[in-house]
Amino acid sequence: MKKTIALSLMLIISLVSFSGCSCKHEEWNEPTCSSPKTCKECGASEGEKSEHKWVDADCNNPVTCSECGETAGSPLEHIWSDADCENPVICTLCGETAGSALGHEWVEPDCENPQTCSKCGKTLGKALSHKWEKGSCTEPKTCTRCKKTQGKAEGHKWSAATLSQPKKCTVCGKTEGTAINAEYCGTGYVDTAKDALNMRKSPDVSAEIVGSIPKDTNISLYYCDKYDWYLTEYKGVTGYVRAEYIAYGLHTEFSDMYYLGTGTVKTKGSELYIRNAKDYSDDSKVGVIPNGKTVDVYYCDDSSWYYVYYNGVSGYSSSDYIVLD
Ligand SMILES: [Zn+2]
Ligand SMILES: [Zn+2]
Ligand SMILES: [Zn+2]
Ligand SMILES: [Zn+2]
Ligand SMILES: [Zn+2]
Ligand SMILES: [Zn+2]
Repeated sequence: MKKTIALSLMLIISLVSFSGCSCKHEEWNEPTCSSPKTCKECGASEGEKSEHKWVDADCNNPVTCSECGETAGSPLEHIWSDADCENPVICTLCGETAGSALGHEWVEPDCENPQTCSKCGKTLGKALSHKWEKGSCTEPKTCTRCKKTQGKAEGHKWSAATLSQPKKCTVCGKTEGTAINAEYCGTGYVDTAKDALNMRKSPDVSAEIVGSIPKDTNISLYYCDKYDWYLTEYKGVTGYVRAEYIAYGLHTEFSDMYYLGTGTVKTKGSELYIRNAKDYSDDSKVGVIPNGKTVDVYYCDDSSWYYVYYNGVSGYSSSDYIVLD
């Protein structure tokens, strides 16, 4: 019996020491995040598992171990930026897009701005250029497209009022005020030895000379407040002449003409022609007298004609249309 126990003991001891010593664990597999290091031969393990190798989460993936694929948490939410004219809604994290771009809202180009998007301010091409129209007396240089103006209106260029017309702009023809108001006192002519007669701005020998009237020229005379001067008009200019160099009446080539006084033109509304001959041809017309005007009338040898003087022009007019005053 003692022998059996001793044998059994020996067997147990030998088994124990066999299993404890037979693998020397010479080669190990590296530890991973799912298992510690393992003996390549016997599979015995020893030590700790390694740490997971976590990769950051993104919009499509949660935090993930690059080694074992284990995940933690959930993917990130997209961070959407607003859509604009050229870009759809876009994730600022991953660049994913949704929908489509809004598109520009183009505003037509004008003189100073190119075609422009009213939403984002993007421009295309160039501004048109102004279409300048010349300024006038009352309007500055103006663009016909956008109405923008440049500089100032040029202003009227006034010529002084005369006996026959008010102050008048020589550029646009606008008139202002009234003609010089003076009383007519008949026809006269320049009666100097040979010189032309000065016409002055005011009835004074030292006043500015505004014109010069040749000898023997017929002129209309108007009273002025200085008895030794007349107011008259010659070639569209009004001025004063000295009475001592004026002869009363009409200077004509006919010595036998005599003055009948003033007469009034009475037509059915049309103008009456002054003619350089006693005929009704177009060639004979040298001037016109508006209906209702007063003229100086002289007798001539033919009763169907008068010799008249009106507004610097003398000649024949039909006596049918002139009523002596
Ligand atoms: Zn081993
Ligand atoms: Zn892992
Ligand atoms: Zn995203
Ligand atoms: Zn835009
Ligand atoms: Zn313009
Ligand atoms: Zn003007």
